[in-house]
Amino acid sequence: MNAIDELAAVKGVAYMDGRYMPLAEAAVPIVDRGFLRSDVTYDALHVWKGRFFRLQDHIDRFRASIAGLRMSLPHTDEELRGILMECVRRTRQRDAFVMVICSRGVQPPGTRDPRLCRNRLYVYAQPFLWIANEEQRRDGFRMILSKTQRIPPESLDQRIKNFHWLDLTMSLFEAYDRDAAVTVLPLADGTVTEGPGFNIFVVKDGALATPNRGLFEGITRRTVMEIAADLQLRCEVRPVRAEEVAAADEIFTSTTAGGITPVTWYEGRPVGDGKPGKLTMRIHDLYWQRHEYDAFCTPVAYHD
Ligand code: PLP
Repeated sequence: MNAIDELAAVKGVAYMDGRYMPLAEAAVPIVDRGFLRSDVTYDALHVWKGRFFRLQDHIDRFRASIAGLRMSLPHTDEELRGILMECVRRTRQRDAFVMVICSRGVQPPGTRDPRLCRNRLYVYAQPFLWIANEEQRRDGFRMILSKTQRIPPESLDQRIKNFHWLDLTMSLFEAYDRDAAVTVLPLADGTVTEGPGFNIFVVKDGALATPNRGLFEGITRRTVMEIAADLQLRCEVRPVRAEEVAAADEIFTSTTAGGITPVTWYEGRPVGDGKPGKLTMRIHDLYWQRHEYDAFCTPVAYHD
C-alpha cells in the first residue's frame, strides 16, 4: 500500500479549525508543537450502541489534562460535547472510537515561549477500536514484564494523558520478540505501572489490586473499581510488585478501546489454569452491562 492508499483506508470524520472533514484529509501542521515536541494532551472516548459512555467524565478528565499542561481552550463543555457528537453523527457509526486532542499549537516566529502559542483543538471519530483481536478477547492476552521502564512520574505526570509513548512502543517490540502481545512496564523500584494503552488488575484470593503510581488513571479502571465495590470485593489501589503479577490467580487489562481483556499467559507461564479467569469474566460482563445504564450514557442524535 502506498501512502495515499494507507490514508484512504482510514475511515472517519475529523474536526479542526471550525471545519468537519473526512479523517483521511485531516492534517496537523508540521510545525505544530504537538507533533514536533509531543506537546499535546488528549482523551479517548467511545460510543457504544449509539451512546457515549461516561461522556462528562471524559470531558472533565480532558480539562484536567489541559490545565496540567497549562493550556486552555476557548470552548465550553457544551461546545465540546457538540463537536464530539457531530463527528460521531457524521460517521454514522453506532460503535465508535473518539479522540479529542489539545495541542500547544504553532510557535509564533522568533520565540520558543510556549505561553505564546494558541492552543489547538483536534477531534476525530472512527469505527470502534479493540486493542485485542477476537482470538485474544476469547483466549486472553500473552503478556510480559518489559525491561523498558515506564517514564517515571517524577519526570512526567502520567495522569495527564500524553503521547510520550516511546517507552510503551519499545516495550511492544520486546513482547513481539518473546511471542507475546502486550507488556506491563515497571518503575525502577520494581513495582508495575500499566501497559501500552491499558491499565492492569491482578486478582489474588478473590481480591483485586491495581497499581497507584506512574500510570494514567483510566475511566475503565474507575468503572472496574465501582463494579468491585458493588460486588463487595476488596479492590486495593496501591503499589503492585512485579512478583505479585507473576503470582496472581487472574490478571486483566482495562481500557476504553475494548474494555476488559483477560491475560492468560504471563512471563512464559499460564495464569491460573491458563483460561480467562472467572472473576475477570464476571467483571467483563458487568462492564458491558453498565453500557445499558442511562446515567452513564449520552445518546448521539444521528438523524439529520
Ligand atoms: N493507560 C494508558 C497509557 C492509556 O493510553 C489508556 C487508554 O487510552 C489507559 C491507561 C486506559 O484508560 P481508559 O480506561 O480511560 O481508556
